[in-house]
Amino acid sequence: MIAVPSLAGTIAAVMGLGRSGRATALALAASGAVVRAWDDDSGKRDAALAEGLTLADPLTGGLDGCALLVWSPGIPHTYPAPHPVAQAAAARGIPMVCDVELLGRARPDCQFLAITGTNGKSTTTTLLGHIAQGCGLSSAAGGNLGTAALAMPELDPGGTYVMELSSYQIELLDSIQLDVAVLLNITPDHLARHGGIEGYVAAKRRLFRYLKPGHAAIVGMDDPTCRGVLMAILAASRWHAVGISAERRVPGGVYAPDGVLIDDTENDAVPCLDLREIASLPGRHNWQNACAAFAAARHAGMDPDEICEALSTYPGLAHRQELVGTVNGVLYVNDSKATNADAAEKALVCYQDVYWIAGGQPKEGGIDALERHFGRIRHAFLIGEAAQAFGRRLDGKVAFTQCGDLGTAVARAHAMAQAERVAGAVVLLSPACASWDQFASFEQRGDVFRQLVREVAA
Ligand code: ADP
Repeated sequence: MIAVPSLAGTIAAVMGLGRSGRATALALAASGAVVRAWDDDSGKRDAALAEGLTLADPLTGGLDGCALLVWSPGIPHTYPAPHPVAQAAAARGIPMVCDVELLGRARPDCQFLAITGTNGKSTTTTLLGHIAQGCGLSSAAGGNLGTAALAMPELDPGGTYVMELSSYQIELLDSIQLDVAVLLNITPDHLARHGGIEGYVAAKRRLFRYLKPGHAAIVGMDDPTCRGVLMAILAASRWHAVGISAERRVPGGVYAPDGVLIDDTENDAVPCLDLREIASLPGRHNWQNACAAFAAARHAGMDPDEICEALSTYPGLAHRQELVGTVNGVLYVNDSKATNADAAEKALVCYQDVYWIAGGQPKEGGIDALERHFGRIRHAFLIGEAAQAFGRRLDGKVAFTQCGDLGTAVARAHAMAQAERVAGAVVLLSPACASWDQFASFEQRGDVFRQLVREVAA
C-alpha cells in the first residue's frame, strides 16, 4: 500500500468504492487523512464499512471542508450527464483527481511509464512490466488493470511504475510527471462517456500534457487518428516523438511489418526478434503491442538484448486470445476481453476456420466492421442482447445458431467442431460486445467459458 503524506491531516472524499476506490480510501486513511467514503451502491458502502472506512454522503455534507475529491474513473462524471457529486465539488472549487494522480504525488522520485489506447493497453502494460522485471528493474505494473494504483508496492526512489491508463483516468490527472507516454491506437469506443469522438480523442491526447519535456511520446502509426496525434507532437517539438507500427517502416521508430521487430530508434534499423515465434503474442495487433513495449523499455534505459529476452518469455494474459484447450486438433480460445468489433477482428484474422461465439451487450456499429472476415467463420453461435441484431447482419452470409446463453453456445460449437474436425479450427469466444447483460464482467464471462470448455472437453 502506498502512503500519500501530502494528504495527512486533510479531509479527502472518495467517490466510488469498487476495487480501486476502496484501496484508495484505505491508503489515504493510513496516510493520516480524514477519509469520507461514498458509493451510490449500498452493497459497496457496506463492504467499505466492514473494512473500517467512514461513510459520508457527498451531497449531504460529505464535501464540507474537503481538500480533495478522489473520483473512481468508472463513474461517468461529465457525459452523458454531469454527475451531481462532481457538480457539487466543482461548485465548491474542490479538485477532483483519480488514484493514479495520487500515486504520482506520493512517489515523485520514481519513473512512470504510462500506456493508453483503445485496445492493447493491458497487454502492453503487462508486457512492459514483464520486461522491466526481466531487465532487473525495481518495478511494478498496474493502474486500470490488476492492482489499483495505491495498492501497488511502495518502490524506492528510482523505481519504475508501469501504468495502464484509461481515458477516464487521464481526465482525472493533474500534476503527475511521466517519463514515457504510449498511445497505442484510437478507434471509436466509449463515445457516450466522452460526448463523442472528439472528446474521446482529446482525452487520449491529454496524456502527453503530463509527459516531461524532452521525453518519449510513443505513438502507434497504424490508424489515421494516431498518425495525426504524432504529427501534432512533432510540430510541438516539446517531446521526443517515436512512431511504432505493425504495418509499415517508421524512420526513427520501432516496427514489425512482417513480424520481425526492427529497432530504428538509433536510425540503424536493427532486426531484434521474430515476434511470430512468440506464442503468447498472436496476431499483428500484438506486434503493435510488442513494438510499443520495446520502444518504451528502450527509452526508459533498458538493454535491447534483455528486452528481447523478456519479450520471448512473456506468459500472456487471461481472456486475450488465451488458449484454454485443444481437443482433437481443435483449439478453444478465450478472447472474452474483445468487447468491441475492432478487438474481435484482431482474433478472427488469426484463424481460418472459426466456430465463433459472439454477442452480449452490443456496442455502436455492432459487427458491421467484421464483414470482410465473414469468410473465416464456419458457423456463428449467438448469445445475449445483441444476438438478434447480429443474426440479421449475418443472415445469408454466415450460418448461425441463436443460442441465448454461453453454456448453450459452447455445447453447440463444441459438438459441431468435433463432428467436422477441421485441422487448426478454433472455437473462439470473441464476443464483440460488453458482458454486462449476462455477466458481472468480461473476466467472469471468460472464466465461465474456460470452465465450460473443461467440462465439454472432459
Ligand atoms: P485493453 O486493456 O486496451 O482493453 P487488452 O490488452 O486487454 O486491451 O486487449 C483487449 C483486446 O483487444 C484483445 O482481446 C485483442 O483482441 C485486442 N487487442 C489487443 N491489442 C490490440 C492492439 N494493439 N490493437 C487492436 N486490438 C488489440
